[in-house]
Amino acid sequence: MIAFDLICAPGGHRFEGWFASSTEYERQLTAQLLCCPTCGTSAVTKAIMAPNVARKGNQSTVSQPAVSPLRPQPESEQVVAVSNQPDMPAEIEKAIAALGKLQNRMLENSDWVGNKFAEEARAIHYGETPERIIHGSASANEAQALFDEGITVAPLPLPFVPPEAKN
Ligand SMILES: [Zn+2]
Repeated sequence: MIAFDLICAPGGHRFEGWFASSTEYERQLTAQLLCCPTCGTSAVTKAIMAPNVARKGNQSTVSQPAVSPLRPQPESEQVVAVSNQPDMPAEIEKAIAALGKLQNRMLENSDWVGNKFAEEARAIHYGETPERIIHGSASANEAQALFDEGITVAPLPLPFVPPEAKN
């Protein structure tokens, strides 16, 4: 068995998955069988590999920024920015809160389409449905494919909690 720390792209939720092998992980990922236990999205990627030993409690988790769908990094190069500063300076907390407000305002005129983002973005791009602004979740592969087709895909600056996970 092999354990992977997984993270969902839209919400940045971390969870652990156990697989018979890394091939099995790839298979389940490709078949979109993996989903985030917190918000249910299947836009899930590997965070960092968990050590293959039983872990004791008191394990500190490091929050990780949302994964950029445009530049999927090889797992070995995936790094997390960390600091041992105990308190986040108030300016940074304020800036993040302000950024959150800006993001909410930006999304006011945008429709949440969940994991149908790739489908909807294509329909809009090829004129099959009226033009509108949407946001949703996409796997790294989907985002890359859209990007290659010349369809605009940009990661949201902050992790996004889907409306269906808010209540
Ligand atoms: Zn999630």
